[in-house]
Amino acid sequence: MRPNFKPRLVNGPFGDPAVYLEFLRERRAFLFDLGDLRPLTNRELLKISHVFVSHTHVDHFIGFDHLLRISLGRQKQIVLFGPNGIIDNVEGKLRGYTWNLVENYVESLSIKVYQVEEKEIEVAKFSCRERFKRQHLDAVSKSDSLLLDEPSLTVCCTFVNHLIPVLAFSFEEKYHINVKKNELEKRNWPPGPWLAELKQAIYENKPDDWIIQVRSPRTPAQVLAEVPLGELRHTLVMYTAGQKISYVTDMLFEPESVQRVIELVSKSNLLYIEACFLEEDREIASEKYHLTAAQAGYIAGKAKVQNFKLFHFSPKYKGREIELIEEARDAYKKSLEK
Ligand SMILES: [Zn+2]
Ligand SMILES: [Zn+2]
Repeated sequence: MRPNFKPRLVNGPFGDPAVYLEFLRERRAFLFDLGDLRPLTNRELLKISHVFVSHTHVDHFIGFDHLLRISLGRQKQIVLFGPNGIIDNVEGKLRGYTWNLVENYVESLSIKVYQVEEKEIEVAKFSCRERFKRQHLDAVSKSDSLLLDEPSLTVCCTFVNHLIPVLAFSFEEKYHINVKKNELEKRNWPPGPWLAELKQAIYENKPDDWIIQVRSPRTPAQVLAEVPLGELRHTLVMYTAGQKISYVTDMLFEPESVQRVIELVSKSNLLYIEACFLEEDREIASEKYHLTAAQAGYIAGKAKVQNFKLFHFSPKYKGREIELIEEARDAYKKSLEK
């Protein structure tokens, strides 16, 4: 299966938290947390359409300014999800600057903020042309963990306890569409952007008589064949499970939070999970409402994730990264076997 998404930590495990999730066949990316974003190129930053903020402690939110700086003067909307207080936090950041002369910008940035609470989601919008004045939009009711539902993917969340409510996130591709190479060859059809159009039509559940035009990327003006979607649905493609990528940070190891997280991240292909401390400092970890590496490994095993990556190491362990990784790996194996 050729993956459609490629996630990576923006900084090393001792750096500020941020995971950049690149869409490989679209000019688009999602970002989980807004730590220091300087390692990302401007091109990468401009691809970001949605940002999911766990909470606004400075190490998770300081990158907001950098993203704003690069996106300003572009025709672009950034959609941002965060916990209670996020609308005030975004407004506070924007009010830190002077906004005159921006009304005349030809291209205009807007930031739409979804503040996720237990039962509802408050919504506000800040537009560059309006000098980023807060605009209230209608709140959305929230009955389950679903935050974003697109034809090909979903993002869900849950709350964890960090003395304040913090959001953990899980991104899931609904299913993965694979094109059968041998069937393409049999028909003498070249691969190209028309395959992306085909996949999009399937994700959008277009009717069987929807026509797909086969074209070669070398002669895009020429239509090689016109085929009803129904025929291609049954002969040309195969469906497999999609990718699931989860992001969990800044949480106390307590039964309720642990249970909720295990359900959210269950069977992820990849879980990013914080591991601030070693088990030898378990008391400090719980005083600071953080996980130890062993606790992170335990959660990963219980949730039966395929793979996990640790981050948010305390600077006190510089040079001891391997101990954190090994401690988590041992706990993962043990809890997976149980
Ligand atoms: Zn924090
Ligand atoms: Zn943190």
